[in-house]
Amino acid sequence: MAEKQGQYRMYVGGKWIGQDLNQIRITNPATGDVFALVPDGGKAEAEKAVKSAFEAFATWSKKTAEERSQYLFNWHRLIEEQKEVIGRLLTEEQGKPFKEAVGEVSYANGFISWYAEEAKRIYGETIPASHPRKRILVQKQPVGVVAAITPWNFPAAMITRKVAPALASGCTAVVKPAEQTPLTALKLAELAEMAGIPTGVLNVVTGNAQVIGETWLRDSRVRKLTFTGSTEVGKILMRGAAHTVKKVSLELGGHAPFIVMDDADLDKAVEGVIGSKFRNAGQTCVCANRVYVHESVAAAFTEKLVTAVQQLRVGNGLAEHTDIGPLIDRKAIEKVQRHVDDAIEKGARLAIGGQRKISDAGYYFEPTVLFDAADDMVCMNEETFGPLLPIATFQEEAEAIERANDTPYGLAAYVYTENIGRAIRISEALEYGIVGLNDGLPSVPQAPFGGLKESGIGREGGHYGIEEYVEVKYISIAF
Ligand code: ADP
Repeated sequence: MAEKQGQYRMYVGGKWIGQDLNQIRITNPATGDVFALVPDGGKAEAEKAVKSAFEAFATWSKKTAEERSQYLFNWHRLIEEQKEVIGRLLTEEQGKPFKEAVGEVSYANGFISWYAEEAKRIYGETIPASHPRKRILVQKQPVGVVAAITPWNFPAAMITRKVAPALASGCTAVVKPAEQTPLTALKLAELAEMAGIPTGVLNVVTGNAQVIGETWLRDSRVRKLTFTGSTEVGKILMRGAAHTVKKVSLELGGHAPFIVMDDADLDKAVEGVIGSKFRNAGQTCVCANRVYVHESVAAAFTEKLVTAVQQLRVGNGLAEHTDIGPLIDRKAIEKVQRHVDDAIEKGARLAIGGQRKISDAGYYFEPTVLFDAADDMVCMNEETFGPLLPIATFQEEAEAIERANDTPYGLAAYVYTENIGRAIRISEALEYGIVGLNDGLPSVPQAPFGGLKESGIGREGGHYGIEEYVEVKYISIAF
């Protein structure tokens, strides 16, 4: 078992270990209380996990696709049965409202069932040869041991999105969850064990990020790094992966523009921006970061938006009617405040919110909307990762596209318009991996999620996602 009275252990080589190590304190961001302890693992545990994953690879990769699929379906069933238990744990360590947490568990589990099916469809190819007595065969083989490093904003989904395609394709995995949210990861590992997934196929190591990351990057048995997190850390890891030329997938930061054209359905646009911006208290990499609204509809849009924001209830994620939970920690609160203060200093006007909520013990910040945002404000360029929405206006379509693209990021962008030609034109011109066209919530297991530019490399989800975990082998046959 992962846990006994708030004391967790990590899962390495089919064993629950680490009680004898120093312990990391896990805080509930809704209250500031420490409610669990996890082992502070390092090099020894990271190496043990790789050894175990490497040994398991020999047999796991030789199983039939049907067998691997069955294991994943077993895991899926157990997660489905316990989704409220996992959801509660997720809310306690991460803060998001319970309903949203259970939604995340379902979303996370969607990757497992999707890849349980896709395991059976990792097709190769035959190519016409240039000689009558030759044949060309192309196979897809699992990469090997995969190291996954994940963030705290989606403690369940960021793990299954990597581990499910890895396991489906025959890879084995070593996972390091974020230090703030390891409990959901450990619970998922416990259910994987219950599902009968063999020893060593999935390992979860908790502890010192830098030491564990470095150990895995230097180990030539680890053939692939898959990371979701900040662009800053992604660059460090990409450099580290160069030591042994590992395959890499990186899902990094974003700075999503949300464009509202003069012909948009404003009610739909408001609904879309609320979902996109305030889900998970603004702590997702595809959250709308900046709105560009056509000047002719700016007043009407903002009025509807402010009315909708007034309805949002901030509070403990376990309270029944909470729409927005706390932010992850004090640093997160301070960053939002810094972005708000900078914008106001540079001439933005506060439409609603703007303050941290100090009546509660946790890390709460009011949902905030700013008018008159300008391109030189920090919040218009850097990821706020909090419930702050700055609104700028524009006059011409080309201007909106240019300002939307003027960033080193390229993950998600949103555009609202009822004009089909314009919709296609703008979607194609946006330099982003994901475009939500009249859609504020585009992430689903069957679609390719990923970014351009400094937002990352590779895609997760859908049949594209499995390509990240296979190597193409060409067998040239002469007879
Ligand atoms: P965030 O800003 O969302 O916390 P980070 O990029 O700092 O994003 O963290 C994402 C994940 O990367 C976490 O699991 C964290 O522990 C891990 N991490 C942070 N720094 C390093 C590092 N130097 N090496 C390996 N992993 C790291």
